[in-house]
Amino acid sequence: MSISLQLQRAAIGALDLIFPVRCASCDAPGESPFCGVCADTLVPLAPGCPVCGEPGDEALLPLLKPRRCQHCREKPPPFVMATAPYLHGGALAEAIHRLKYERREDLGPALAVLFEGCAGPRSDCLCPIPLHPRRLRQRGYDQARLLADGAAKRFRIPVVPLLTRVRDTGQQVGRDRAARERNVRGAFAGSEKAHGLRVCLVDDVLTTGATAAAAAQALLNAGAARVEVRTLARAP
Ligand SMILES: [Zn+2]
Ligand SMILES: [Zn+2]
Repeated sequence: MSISLQLQRAAIGALDLIFPVRCASCDAPGESPFCGVCADTLVPLAPGCPVCGEPGDEALLPLLKPRRCQHCREKPPPFVMATAPYLHGGALAEAIHRLKYERREDLGPALAVLFEGCAGPRSDCLCPIPLHPRRLRQRGYDQARLLADGAAKRFRIPVVPLLTRVRDTGQQVGRDRAARERNVRGAFAGSEKAHGLRVCLVDDVLTTGATAAAAAQALLNAGAARVEVRTLARAP
């Protein structure tokens, strides 16, 4: 065996020690991103609002007649569509929590595999919805960037960071829709490089879509031609 191959194997072995293949939710060894038990808790996104992905009432057969939800009819968001492979809950919610709050940076690439489960974007580039620089320093990494890098491999679309978060907005959790919208309004600035581009925003979870809407609006203000959104999970 050549020395370089030995070194390569040793390096892979060391990586295995640091990041052995484990379930992203319960740490069961040998399976990624989820073990069989945890994978059973994943709920694919049901057909719903064709704009924001809000799950619809199955009794209305939305597949036959896609209908925008009440929010999108009353106040269309600045993005053309937002979708996700799964509903936010079960093992996926647990794994996203670990990625964001338990310093499990390694789960970014593992979870990004799940983007295979949703429609490929019709965009020129992927743009992560960024953390505020202060929060990035605290966390040490930006989970949306990790997910975008993983999604870039799946969708074969490059990552181009086009946004900065100019205001630290704090947690959206616990705020209602109107409060979320107020809280993130004007929180982002788009790069002039966005001019003329079709951009797909990438983030971990979409809840009301307020953050995605503020980010999309910043890109449109910077001259982006079109914005769509992909997240790992959609709030039910
Ligand atoms: Zn598991
Ligand atoms: Zn909608």
